[in-house]
Amino acid sequence: MRIARFTTGDDPRYAMVEGAPGAEELVVLRGDPIYMPVQLTGERVPLARADVRLLAPVIPRSKIIGVGRNYAEHVAEMGNELPAEPLLFLKPNTSVIGPDDPIVLPAWTTEVHHEAELAVVIGKVTKDVSPERALDQVFGYTVANDVTARDAQRTDGQWARAKGFDSSCPLGPWIVPGLEVDGLEISARVNGEMRQDGNTAHMVFDVAHLISYISAAFTLLPGDVILTGTPAGVGPIVHGDVVEVEVEEIGVLRNPVVRRD
Ligand code: MG
Repeated sequence: MRIARFTTGDDPRYAMVEGAPGAEELVVLRGDPIYMPVQLTGERVPLARADVRLLAPVIPRSKIIGVGRNYAEHVAEMGNELPAEPLLFLKPNTSVIGPDDPIVLPAWTTEVHHEAELAVVIGKVTKDVSPERALDQVFGYTVANDVTARDAQRTDGQWARAKGFDSSCPLGPWIVPGLEVDGLEISARVNGEMRQDGNTAHMVFDVAHLISYISAAFTLLPGDVILTGTPAGVGPIVHGDVVEVEVEEIGVLRNPVVRRD
């Protein structure tokens, strides 16, 4: 199953996505499936219809928790030590944009990087969960780009601005519930050229461990999102680029990059 959030010009609605690539149909749902059981309205809308636009599949109700340095080769390329425990940071929900929305480069940075990531969407109130029970708390998985102002990340001392600015958290194109995520190809392409080519099997801390560790610090609410770290190959994006992040079995998240100054 794939769960999308979309608009045809009015308030956002949710849908199950059915059909093959290029011929998808949105099977429209009543309400938000993260918070209520799936109910069909009977309406079906072709995804390719001109007035249909996919939105970020979730706007986190309270927070996005990022995990830094969770793939060994990426830790090495940044010249960092492998962490003994997950390294956590927060992104505000105002950083979220959807498929095809522009990543807007802020005037105060000259070095913005893409980071391809698997994103976990929480489905239940979660506190102090064991790794063994952690995956029961997941609503589903989507694709994220943990867009990072690398220069500000180095100079600010902490990462709130570098990883939290408006449009620094593209999410989408939809949420896939019930996925096995311990061996998925994950990649980033810029203007069609492969930049990151990894596999979630290479995470230092797996998804169950991350949820458990995070829930020892924060109460996770339905709709909260965890970004699980990026594989090696991060690099710059500039005005005019198109960046695509893909996770196997989920889909492609595509965003143009613009600088407005
Ligand atoms: Mg990251």
